[in-house]
Amino acid sequence: MQIIAVIGAGTMGNGIAHTFAQSGFKVNLIDINEVALENGLRTITKNLDRMIAKEKISEVDKKETLSNISSFTDINEGVKTVDLVVEVATENIDLKLKIFKQLDSLCHQHTILATNTSSISITQIAAVTSRPEKVIGMHFMNPVPIMKLVEVIRGYNSSDAVTNTIMELSKSLGKVPVEVNDYPGFVANRILMPMLNESIETLYNGVAGVLEIDTVMKLGMAHPMGPLQLADFIGLDVCLSILNVMYDGFKNPKYAPCPLLTNMVQAGKLGVKSGEGFYDYSESRKAEKVASQFIK
Ligand code: NAD
Repeated sequence: MQIIAVIGAGTMGNGIAHTFAQSGFKVNLIDINEVALENGLRTITKNLDRMIAKEKISEVDKKETLSNISSFTDINEGVKTVDLVVEVATENIDLKLKIFKQLDSLCHQHTILATNTSSISITQIAAVTSRPEKVIGMHFMNPVPIMKLVEVIRGYNSSDAVTNTIMELSKSLGKVPVEVNDYPGFVANRILMPMLNESIETLYNGVAGVLEIDTVMKLGMAHPMGPLQLADFIGLDVCLSILNVMYDGFKNPKYAPCPLLTNMVQAGKLGVKSGEGFYDYSESRKAEKVASQFIK
């Protein structure tokens, strides 16, 4: 495994490209949007500078990491010679199915096709390719360079050999991989999202206010961040979409999104990325303060 393509240079894509490049892999970072690609590279540089300031890496490490990354806006060019693709494009089922059909026809037969999806079925994605045994979930956590976990999700047809390769590869990135099966929400979001939804329901029912709920969970349960703040950080639209996938997938009302969450998303209150969610991030300083609490 030497050359990796990362498709999507957004929040997660640039972190994944950074992590592979810092571990010595050659990375082709691909985004259809040139501005997103430039922003992604800028974020990687900024995060490397932050690591230098904390004396975690040297200037030489930064230079080597950046020299391992090539950027592309054309998927055809970026995936031709790679051993692994990690798809990190926008969370949209039609888009992911289209990308995987394209990848299947463009990549070498040996290439493993992984996706960082938070909620879409790996089995369904694999089914549009001619190599379902080589399709797998590689679910990194945000912020990728910091968070240790990689949830490795086996689709119905993912082979043992491919699963082992991805488990070992994750370890070589300094991560801790955990193997799970492909059911709605996998493990991380199946457990996290109902908790976030319940905290929104608690607010909706008037049991307590935003700060009170977050303080109870931070100080009482030793959570590093309150659940409402975490929902803001993940994106309320993302939380809503994951809950809906679990609600549809299990046909179980316990996953039904709280009406307040639906209302907020419809009103464009998406959390940190839109400037307002349960908290107000209208001054950029505030959003950065919230992010820095999380990125220790
Ligand atoms: P994002 O919106 O920040 O970035 C998505 C990027 O994909 C954008 O830059 C967009 O231009 C690009 N893109 C769209 N279509 C493309 C195409 N056809 N080819 C190449 N690039 C394309 O999204 P994100 O938050 O980084 O999420 C990406 C994936 O990671 C999603 O599947 C999401 O569910 C998953 N994920 C997100 C988080 C999180 O905390 N944000 C955590 C775990 C997993």
